Amino acid sequence: MLTTEAELASVIDLSLEERAGLAASKSLFRVGITPYYASLMDPAHPSCPVRLQAIPHPAEAQIREEELRDPLGEDTHNPAPSVVHKYPDRVLFLVVDRCGIYCRHCNRRRLVGGDEPPTTAELEAGLEYIAKTPRIRDVLLSGGDPLLLSTRRLSYLLGRLRQIPHVETIRIGTRLPVVCPMRIDDELVAALRQHHPLFVNTHFNHVKELTPEARRGCERLVDAGIPVGNQTVLLRGVNSSVRSLRALMRGLLRMRVRPYYLFQGDTVIGTDHLRTPVETAMELYQGLRGWMNSMAVPMLVLDAPGGGGKVPIVPSYIEHLDEERVIVKTYRGARVEYPQPRERDCSVPYDAIQFAGEPPDDDREGSAEVL
Ligand code: SF4
Repeated sequence: MLTTEAELASVIDLSLEERAGLAASKSLFRVGITPYYASLMDPAHPSCPVRLQAIPHPAEAQIREEELRDPLGEDTHNPAPSVVHKYPDRVLFLVVDRCGIYCRHCNRRRLVGGDEPPTTAELEAGLEYIAKTPRIRDVLLSGGDPLLLSTRRLSYLLGRLRQIPHVETIRIGTRLPVVCPMRIDDELVAALRQHHPLFVNTHFNHVKELTPEARRGCERLVDAGIPVGNQTVLLRGVNSSVRSLRALMRGLLRMRVRPYYLFQGDTVIGTDHLRTPVETAMELYQGLRGWMNSMAVPMLVLDAPGGGGKVPIVPSYIEHLDEERVIVKTYRGARVEYPQPRERDCSVPYDAIQFAGEPPDDDREGSAEVL
C-alpha cells in the first residue's frame, strides 16, 4: 500500500497542495492507497478524480463547527460491540477496521485505520446479539472492508450468520472491487456463493474506476448469483456534473452493477470542501431521471445527521395534488394532468386470510429497548 509522500511522488507529479495535504493528514486521518488504485491516477493533473478521492487536501484540517466525528450517530446505536442497530429490521456488523483505501470523504474515519481491529470476543458478542434479536432480518457486513478478512475468516462469519434462522439476507459493503478488484478471485467467489441470498454493495464514484479489472471482479460475483449494487457519494469537483454521473451510471449498468444510492455527502469532520449544496444535488439528479434508463438512476439520499436514517431528497415532480387530479411536471418540464381514480379505498381483503396468525412487522426503533 502507498502511504507516504515519497511513495506517491514515485507514481505521480504531486502538486504543492497535495504535499501540504499529505503533511496535514498525519494528525487527521491516515493515507493508504493500493498500487492498483494509484495506477489509475492521472500523473499530470491534480484535478484527477482518483487523486481527489485518495490524496488529502489541506482543507481537511479546517474542522467546521457543524461537522461531526460520528455524523450518522452510529456510536449511540450500538447495543453490542461491532453492531450498529438503527433501523428496525437490519443491522450493520463492523467486522474489520482496515480498508483497501482511506477515502478522503469517509464518514467512518474515526473508526477505520487498522489500529484497533474487533477482537474475537467482540465479534462473538455481536453474533450473539443478532442471534437473540428476532426482528433482525438483514445483516450488512461492513467496517472497514470485510473483503480484507481472509476468505476463511469471512466464510466462518457468514456461516455463523446463516445459522441464525431469522437472518434472511446478508449484504457485504466493500470498496475492493474498486481499489483491488483482483481480490475477487475464484476462491473468494466459491466461498461467498455458499451463503445465498447474499448481496454485495460496492462504491464506485467515477467512470475512471470502471476498468477491465473492475469489470471482471464484479462480473465474477454476478456470475455466481451475487447481485452487485453500487453506492456513489456525490463529491464536489470529483463527480458533481451531469456528464460525469451519466457516464458512471451507464458504465456500471454495462458491468451488470446496479446503481443503488447516490449519497449527499455526510457532515463528517474535514470534508466540507468535498460536499455539494443540496440544491446542486437535486439539479444533478434531474439530469439523470428520465434522461437515462431508470435502472441506471440511483436514489438520491441524505443520511440525516445524528442517526435519523436515509432521507430521499428527490425533487418534487408534483405541482398540485387533490382528490380529483394531480398536476405533474415531466422530466422535460412539461405540465401534465393525471386524473385520480374514483374509488379511494385501497385495503387488501385477502391479507386477512393470507397473513392470519402472523405477527405484524416490528416497526420499533432498532435498538431503543436495548440501550
Ligand atoms: S472504503 Fe469505505 S470505510 Fe474505508 S475509508 Fe473508504 S469509505 Fe471509509
